Order: sequence, then structure tokens, then C-alpha cells
Amino acid sequence: SNEPTSIFAEGWLKRTYEEKPVKNVRTRFPPEPNGFLHIGHCKAIAVNFGFAKHHNGVCFLRYDDTNPEKEEEIYFTSILDIIKWLGFEPYQVTYSSDSFDRLYGLAEELILKDKAYVCHCSREEVNRQRGGPDNRGPRYACDHRTRPIEESIAEFRAMRDGKYRAGEAYLRMKQSLTDPNEGNPQMWDLPAYRVIENNYHHRTGDQWRIYPTYDFTHCLCDAFEEISHSMCTTEFQQSRVSYDWLLQQLDMKIPNSEEKGPMQREYGRLNVGGTILSKRRILMLVEGTTVEKKNADGTVEKKVIPPSVRSWDDPRLYTLVALRRRGIPAKALLKFVEELGVTDALTEIQPFRLESSIRKYLERTVPRQMLVLDPVKVVLEDVTPEEEQELTVPYDPKGAIPGERKVKFSKEIYIDRSDFREEDSPEYFRLAPNKIVGLYNTPFPIRATSFSKDENGRVTEIRAVKAPGEKPKTYIQWVDAATGIPVTARQYNSLFKTDSPNTLDWKTGGWADDLNPNSEVVFENALIERGLKDLLKDRSLHPTGSSDDLVRFQALRTAYFCVDVVDSTEDKIVLNQIVTLREDKAK
Ligand code: ATP
Ligand code: MG
Ligand code: MG
Repeated sequence: SNEPTSIFAEGWLKRTYEEKPVKNVRTRFPPEPNGFLHIGHCKAIAVNFGFAKHHNGVCFLRYDDTNPEKEEEIYFTSILDIIKWLGFEPYQVTYSSDSFDRLYGLAEELILKDKAYVCHCSREEVNRQRGGPDNRGPRYACDHRTRPIEESIAEFRAMRDGKYRAGEAYLRMKQSLTDPNEGNPQMWDLPAYRVIENNYHHRTGDQWRIYPTYDFTHCLCDAFEEISHSMCTTEFQQSRVSYDWLLQQLDMKIPNSEEKGPMQREYGRLNVGGTILSKRRILMLVEGTTVEKKNADGTVEKKVIPPSVRSWDDPRLYTLVALRRRGIPAKALLKFVEELGVTDALTEIQPFRLESSIRKYLERTVPRQMLVLDPVKVVLEDVTPEEEQELTVPYDPKGAIPGERKVKFSKEIYIDRSDFREEDSPEYFRLAPNKIVGLYNTPFPIRATSFSKDENGRVTEIRAVKAPGEKPKTYIQWVDAATGIPVTARQYNSLFKTDSPNTLDWKTGGWADDLNPNSEVVFENALIERGLKDLLKDRSLHPTGSSDDLVRFQALRTAYFCVDVVDSTEDKIVLNQIVTLREDKAK
């Protein structure tokens, strides 16, 4: 076939399959429902759903909802929506919390096997047991480690039944804390259960006061769902040992064998520079924040930082809801992730790489339109009524995108203010008094004859005549005054002045000084050809989150845009700039 080699047929993903070449491939995408997914998650989705699809297997969406403190309904909906938008359908949607009873039972089983104990040490004490602040000192056990099994069972039930407050008791796995040769911190008696007080769980209500940790839950839920290949990012490399250890204690895996139970493998994260992906930090942009600064004299100064983006889907962010709203096609995003490939190394990209990939994709897929961001009127004095015609213009002059549209030409048009100069100069090729310029798709160029200004010196109207037979150096876009559609166009630039916003001061609010005042540039009075109505025909102004039916186009000489799904109304359409036409974007 003509299909390029897929990422699943080579490299890391191929090897991962070959390590466990089963017939029934079962994978999972396991987000914590505590925030919106970001561009990095797109890689995780592509890897897990794509791998299953490639091997004719299935992929679960599993909400890893073991931390009720941070979970909210909106995240659940948005995560599923984004997966569908990317073109994947989970085989089943599951929740770690569905297994709380079963997990609890296995925790007791682990205690009965003398492989877990209830510990009452403070966090500081546990840190000392684990070799101190740098984990380099000697390690030692507390007395709880050797308490009788029945006592741990009784205490674990007491934890469950509400005897302890948060931090007063943990169930710890009895791993290799005291083995001086065990250098992996993931094997130093990790907590399996902790008390979380007063936290209502969205699915189990107030049934539980104790919640299982990631290290206890993840491998077991993988086993429950009979996951064959459990793929995660490399920060879990050290966890592979504890993952296998727990499964082995519960007879769900055979040591040194992949015959039974799930197999964990780790690939490199995808990070994007020039922006922030951390939920906590994005929240500060979305909601604003109040920071406190301690002065030398001990007084505390409060500084209120207002919101700097409109929402989690603000097109300047790199959450997936934001990229979708900005108009980046789901297929283009997946293609980009595929182009980067999958290895066990971290992939760090700058936004311009994403943009150039998106640009290439749009170039071949979206129709052209004429848009003027900052319109100024041009009266074509000698255009006759016969010449005021309806032109038929292809959607793509190169013919790659099929179809055509009607463009009305008449005596009164608008051009972009930046395409006119009051004074001509030799190196300037657009419109100026006594200079000619071409108008896209029209039979003749025009020559400016005069112009008028308002009291502020702003050009209000240009007068021009036909210049048939002359050869213009440049063609510009224009919009018919009578039929053009008023729109609001938003252009986006980098949110921060620095290229490395993660190194800013996020503690005391210093980051706010680095916000780029031009991260959003709005043209309230832009005009677009009436052909936009045809592109919108039969399509909703507000497609559902899981649909990719956005109206996108290339505005000639301007940028790629899409119709904003949130703020557009029947009366006023709002456009989002997807990417510029070229890579010369100034900040
Ligand atoms: P973050 O800390 O950035 O919010 P997370 O790891 O807490 O991310 P999860 O909801 O746990 O987010 O992620 C679900 C899955 O997505 C995990 O398997 C995780 O490894 C993967 N993932 C998260 N971030 C990235 C990334 N930047 N690149 C690739 N995969 C990622
Ligand atoms: Mg996580
Ligand atoms: Mg996280």
C-alpha cells in the first residue's frame, strides 16, 4: 500500500509488541480526572489507542479516580470528548473506583501474606527510614513492620472504619526497605492506602475514608482488565519493579516471565517549550491568583493577579481543548505526534515545530477566503454596472481543494489598511496615490487617484480607477462592501515574553511580569467575503466537543483561521487564527 510505515510497525512500539506478541492486545489510557488533557496526553492517547487498533485489539479509557480531593465532573466529560475528537472510541470506560471493594480485599490478602503492615509513623519519620532527605543514608524499619499480622488486619479495618485521621495511619507494602542492596526507592515499603478525610468521592460518595495509592491501584486494575501492554511514560521506569512485585505477591504474575498478567513498558514524554502545561500553573492563568510577598520589615503585601486567559480552552494554551478550539485539526495533531515518533527518550519541541506541521496539513486541506482585518474603503470611480459582476473563484487556485465560490465585485470594496500608503516609494508595491495594484480574481488592476482623512489623520476613503492592461507587481485581497460579512478576528501570539516560562517565578507571582501584552490581538471590525456563509452552510456554528466539523480556511495573505465555536453568534462570527502563513511570526 501507499501508507507510510506506521509508528507501530517499527522502533519502540514494535519491540514492545514483540516482547509480548499476544493475539488479544488490550491497552488502556489511564488519566487522572483532575484536569484537562494537554498536548502531551495526545501522545499517550495515540500510543495506547493506536497500538490497540494496529493489532486489532482493544483500548480502555480508565479514569484513575483514586484521589477525590482533586476530581471534578467536567474533567470526566472533557477527557472522553477529546478522545472521541481525536477519532478513537474506548472499548470500555472504566473507573479505578469501580474496583475499590476488590482492591480492599486484595489489601487484606496482602496483609495476610505478611506483605503489608499498618504503620503510624509521621511523614518525616518515614523519610528518615528511607535514608533521609537525599535517600542516601542508612535505611531502617520501624516497629510496625514486624507487628503481628492480626494486629495489622485489625488496624487496617480501623483505618477503614474511621478511627484515624489523615496522616495517622498508612498501609505500607512490605517490600525491601531493609535490604541494603535494594537501590530502587520504589521498593522501600511504599504506601498502599491512606486516610483521606471529609472527601466526598463522585462515585462512591462517603463510603470510603481510605483510598488506595497509584502504586497499589494501577497494576491491579491493569490485571483486572487483562491489559496485555501497559504503556506509560518514563518517569514510571523505576515503578516497573514495584508494579511486578505487587502482582507477583498476589499470584497475578510469574517472576521473570510475561506469560501471565500485564507488562509495563515506558516511552518518553512529549513536552512543549515556550508554554506551560502544569495544571496548577494554567489554573493561575485561568482564574487569576493572589500572591503574598513578605517585606524585609515582616509586613506582608498582597498582590492580586487578574486572569490572563479566558478559560481552559483559550486558544493560547496547549491543553487539547484549547488546540481544538484554536482550530487545529485532530488528524493534523495525530500526524504531528506520529512524525515525532515514539522512543524511550523525552521529546521536547518548540511551538513553531507544531505550527509548521499544522501549516503543511492545512495548506492541502482548507479552502481560501478573502479577509481584511483592518478595512479601509476604496471607491472605484469608473467601474460600470456591467462590470459589477459575480465572479466564480476556485477554493484553491492550485486545485488541490475541490470546489468554487461566488465572489461579488462592485464599485465599493474594502482593502486592508496596511495595503495603502499615503506616499509612494520605489520599493513599495501595493496601493498608493498614482500607483497600481492587482485585486485577486478581478479582470483589471486599479490605480489610486486620491484619498480623504478624518480629523485624526486616519485615512477614511480611497478613490481609484481601473487600470486595464497594466501589469501590477502585487495582488492584494479585498472584500465587497455590500455583501462582505463583518467578523471579529483574533490573532494569537506566545503567552509569555520568555521562551522558557517554566523557569519564571511561580511562587511569588513574578511570572505575571512576563506575560506578553500582545498574546491576543483582536480585530473587531474585520470583513470577510460572503463565501464564508457557504462554508458554514449545513454546519453548526457550535459543533459538539467530540466533532471535528469546524470551518477552517486560509485567509489569503493573512493567516489560517477557523470559526470560533464558543463566542460566534448568528450576528457576529468570531475567527481564531490557527497558524500564520509563514514561520516569521514576531512576538
Ligand atoms: P501532568 O502531570 O502533566 O498533568 P499526569 O501524568 O498527571 O500529567 P495523567 O492524567 O496521569 O497525567 O496521564 C495519563 C497518561 O498520560 C499517563 O499514562 C501519563 O504517563 C500520560 N502522559 C501524561 N503527560 C504526558 C506527556 N507529556 N507525554 C506523554 N504522555 C503523557
Ligand atoms: Mg499521573
Ligand atoms: Mg500529574
